[in-house]
Amino acid sequence: MSKLTSSARIFVAGHRGLVGSAIVRRLEADGYTNLLTAGRAELDLRDQAAVDRWFEAQRPEFVFLVAGTVGGIMANSTRPAEFIYDNMMIHATVVHAAHRTGVERLLYLGSSCIYPRQCPQPIREEYLLTGPLEPTNEAYAIAKIAGIKLCQAYRRQYGCDFISAMPTNLYGPHDNFDLTSSHVLPALIRKFHDASQLAAQTGEPAQVTVWGTGSPCREFLHVEDLADACLFLMRHYHGDEHINVGTGEDLSIRELAELIRSIVAPEARILFDRDKPDGMPRKLLDVSRLHELGWRHSIDLERGIRETYQWFVDPRTPEEVRAASSFSV
Ligand code: GDP
Repeated sequence: MSKLTSSARIFVAGHRGLVGSAIVRRLEADGYTNLLTAGRAELDLRDQAAVDRWFEAQRPEFVFLVAGTVGGIMANSTRPAEFIYDNMMIHATVVHAAHRTGVERLLYLGSSCIYPRQCPQPIREEYLLTGPLEPTNEAYAIAKIAGIKLCQAYRRQYGCDFISAMPTNLYGPHDNFDLTSSHVLPALIRKFHDASQLAAQTGEPAQVTVWGTGSPCREFLHVEDLADACLFLMRHYHGDEHINVGTGEDLSIRELAELIRSIVAPEARILFDRDKPDGMPRKLLDVSRLHELGWRHSIDLERGIRETYQWFVDPRTPEEVRAASSFSV
């Protein structure tokens, strides 16, 4: 049996995205020397034959399955076919190839949107499949639920040690700041930043339009905390049940907008565009299982936003800019 030693062969599927790049940075910082990655041009993760060939050639022992097509509320509701097809295919090909080539352990990353729209809050793991999903991200949620069920099925039938983690809304460096496809936190950082620059040029007061009513609540986890949790689970968790990963604290979109405003553009006015969808009213994860296992987040939201904003304004290489505007997790 292979151990997760510093020379273990570890495949990070989706290494260019928000999560994958944070996991790679974390593994490198911890001294892991045998990291395997594959760019899109090299390997289409939706292609089973190509994925099989790649696994046979590279023989990873541990897999972080954090690749996928992701996006915010607008991208999810306007491109459901891509969200369901890409994600179902990627999860299936990688899990199947991992089983075929005898991968020691695989961590699959889902999303908190798997839970029913009208879930009791905070959301416990066992609320999965107890009610209808939020329509704005149903296609993505179905693919993510299929990923959990894949891991469980391969565990039950073949004894694979494949585990699932369900993170809350994530943010941090290398996020997607494109306003049509991003999630709310990077979108608002960008909107306040742009509004402040525009006001400086025109002399007009800065103002930012926030989608929806501002009343939905969301929980946010810094991606470096998530990378830490993924490594923790890879080392210590061997269960069949998926595990929620979050902070256990949420705030309204209005409060989030006010917090980001205080950091980026304190002078800006906030307007609400009620024609845009609110999505889930609330999705606060119950993280007691994770806490019982011994893991807690460490980056508080204000510090995380400050660091992310700094990353956003810092000069970047063209490669980093391209990665930050792609749809991959
Ligand atoms: P969700 O958590 O899957 O709903 O994804 P988002 O992060 O895209 O949206 C979260 C909430 O923020 C929703 O209620 C959105 O309507 C709201 N929101 C407010 N302004 C924005 C914005 O500029 N972009 C995005 N993506 N969401 C926004």
